Amino acid sequence: MARRADRHPGPPPAAAPADPGPTATVGRIFQVVRDRGPLSASEIVRRTGLAKSTVSVHLDRLRAAGLVRPDARPGSKRQKLKVADDVGAVVGLDVGQTHLTAALCDLTAAPLARRRIPLDLARETPERVLALAGGLVAALCREAGVRGRKLFGIGVGVPGPVDFAAGVPVSPPVMPGWDRFPVATRLAKRFGCPVFLDNDVNVMALGERDRGVAAGADSFIYVKIGTGIGAGIVLHGEIHRGAKGAAGDIGHIGLDGRDEPCPCGNRGCLEVVAGGAALAAQARAAASARRSPFLAALAARQAPLDAAAVGQGALAGDATCLRLLMDSGAAVGGVLAKLVNFFNPSLIVVGGGVAGVGERYVASLREAIYRRSTPLATADLQVKRTALGEEGGAVGAAVLVLDEILSHQNVSRLVRGGRHAR
Ligand SMILES: [Zn+2]
Repeated sequence: MARRADRHPGPPPAAAPADPGPTATVGRIFQVVRDRGPLSASEIVRRTGLAKSTVSVHLDRLRAAGLVRPDARPGSKRQKLKVADDVGAVVGLDVGQTHLTAALCDLTAAPLARRRIPLDLARETPERVLALAGGLVAALCREAGVRGRKLFGIGVGVPGPVDFAAGVPVSPPVMPGWDRFPVATRLAKRFGCPVFLDNDVNVMALGERDRGVAAGADSFIYVKIGTGIGAGIVLHGEIHRGAKGAAGDIGHIGLDGRDEPCPCGNRGCLEVVAGGAALAAQARAAASARRSPFLAALAARQAPLDAAAVGQGALAGDATCLRLLMDSGAAVGGVLAKLVNFFNPSLIVVGGGVAGVGERYVASLREAIYRRSTPLATADLQVKRTALGEEGGAVGAAVLVLDEILSHQNVSRLVRGGRHAR
């Protein structure tokens, strides 16, 4: 983990005040312990640039508030401190189009228990989905024995645009009936804790930052290529949501020379050219036109013709499947190249069902990005597949809660109040 505090080390020691200083300082010290701990007091001094006396006073306050405690690792000579991961728990919920996944995590976002159930999101009412989600949260709390731990908060990721401050989805195309539905308020009322709602791709990006392949990356893009296509933008360790929360909606960037109609009302959007649904449609067309022996054989057996089938065909050496994958990769990579030129990330993390079909796909993305970006922007650019798998969204939603409740400001407030969260 590495974010904010570690990257903005503040004034050099000479400029640091000897007294406890502004309350924000305690939040900053906590953030360093959260990102880089376990750490000794002198390591915290080195990383923050604060005076030794300042760090010492604030560590006492954090210990008294129950937020940090000594790391009991055997063999360590100097006492190190870590986040008191067992004082509370958070739950991350990932509402997918075909599943509902929940993870109960400690205060370092390490999963303690998880559950996943099938869901047909397009056919369920928001009330029913929240009832199912509430059942999962309650079951996880019982199962993992939240005993003694407080439920500090719940994070929820949904596949659509979200008004983050209001905690409501906004006109989500794949979630009929969810426009402005009070997701956060409903869950907060039931569980008596803060609830944060965000777009699923944003929470997946947070999951990669804390527990995936983006650890240590300052500014990166997480791109999800599934049925739809979207991106989460992490800027200096934090999600960039944009003015209205719509940042990263790259699935509806128009491609030159393409004319396929998109449900959004425009034509030639990246998603309808290169997304999972597009690959499935292209696979069905190739099978019925007998352009692909592999897909035709699948169709004859009534097997599903989807992105995964195209991936299997490419692996088996079917030329049409390989071309379909390469074309999708080139289209997504072409859009990512523009983002790379504009945003200059150090890393692009690729996730989602289509990306899961194999390294060949990621290679085609990488090739398109490198071919169409400027040499300086790609000088140290890495393109990696997600390492988190199907629970990445739920873990990311847990990270979202932790970012909010353990923010500089909140920790400062908690310590001032002399007790831990809530
Ligand atoms: Zn569109």
